[in-house]
Amino acid sequence: MTHDPNCLFCKIVAGQIPSKKVYEDEDILAFHDIHPWAPVHVLIIPKRHIASMSDVTEAEAVLLGKMTALGPRLMKELGVTNGFRHVINTGPDGGQEVLHLHLHVMGGPRPWLKG
Ligand code: AMP
Ligand code: ZN
Repeated sequence: MTHDPNCLFCKIVAGQIPSKKVYEDEDILAFHDIHPWAPVHVLIIPKRHIASMSDVTEAEAVLLGKMTALGPRLMKELGVTNGFRHVINTGPDGGQEVLHLHLHVMGGPRPWLKG
């Protein structure tokens, strides 16, 4: 499935739900988290519906590489100069709430709300 009509982040990709976009290309979308844990908190997602890291195989290696490498670029563009965190939550015990793969990238001066 490339698009799940019931998926929140697929709706953001489709423009059916608004987001504060910071980056977009043919494979990836990045936008500000609606409830940031840190002064700068973006989510980087594949445009294609992949539910979680449990569904990732070697076929997604290039896609995940692109998503991971986008983090430092966005942090720099958004003025983060003193370090940042990449986080991916997977499944119920991993604390995943939205079932469309997303990479949290957080930075900015501490203290943070969480993370
Ligand atoms: P997770 O717990 O890893 O699944 O994280 C889901 C994240 O999505 C949370 O940090 C939410 O604040 C964020 N989120 C939920 N709805 C939206 C939305 N409409 N726009 C931006 N971020 C959202
Ligand atoms: Zn989706």
